[in-house]
Amino acid sequence: MSKIAVTGIGPGSMADMTPRAKAAIEDADIIIGYSTYIGLIGKHFPGKEFLSSGMTREIERCELALQMALEGKSVALISSGDCGIYGMAGIMLEVVNRSGSGIPVEIIPGITAASAAAAILGAPIMHDFAVISLSDLMTPLELIYKRVECAAEGDFVICLYNPKSKKRTDYIDKVRNIVLKYRKAETPVGIVRNAGREKEAYDIATLSNMLDFEIDMFTVVVIGNSKTYMDNGRIITPRGYDLKEYVR
Ligand code: SAH
Repeated sequence: MSKIAVTGIGPGSMADMTPRAKAAIEDADIIIGYSTYIGLIGKHFPGKEFLSSGMTREIERCELALQMALEGKSVALISSGDCGIYGMAGIMLEVVNRSGSGIPVEIIPGITAASAAAAILGAPIMHDFAVISLSDLMTPLELIYKRVECAAEGDFVICLYNPKSKKRTDYIDKVRNIVLKYRKAETPVGIVRNAGREKEAYDIATLSNMLDFEIDMFTVVVIGNSKTYMDNGRIITPRGYDLKEYVR
């Protein structure tokens, strides 16, 4: 049956993959994805046919998915975290729409890195938050900084995706300086690497010392709002519940 299921596989572990995503992969004739993600989940689906490609080959992967679907196959196109958040959902819909083929596309959501990271840190995104990617491969850097500035001014909790790569090492520095214009140096900052994966690790830092910790391209950085605090090793952004009667 010709169809494409764009499938968010979650942050990495099978425990964090939804049953709906698992079923889509089980039911597909062929599974297409970035090699790293196929490496993460492939062994859990013995007997299934996987096709992998490199990181910057998103359009190629979509064209391949379309071609396979046009041949009558049921295709799962996998994407890490939520496929609708910096994932494959949008580009797949665009490619299918432009083809005029009418191939049905199902979008299956997954746990995004920010949710996985927040759970590790405690409850840092309990209130309004903004997700900003520091990758300027397809977004002008000035626009990225403007969004950071607006989110900081608006007192949003800020989750940074793609905070650093080998080439982009100083953007995070600049972002920190922008946020410091609006927030105290002791504002909690959670740094989570490889959430839900083998090398999962995290640090709880502040705006003042956050750059002393390891931040790479498998990291989510969560910057608290003006009310965010640390207690008992966890980061909490209060929603505003009145806890007066429950004081310790
Ligand atoms: N669609 C994905 C995001 C892809 S953008 C999602 O919804 O999670 C890639 C960025 O996501 C990485 O640079 C990193 O900032 C973040 N990321 C993805 N998986 C992660 C994980 N397991 N742990 C920490 N950060 C992760």
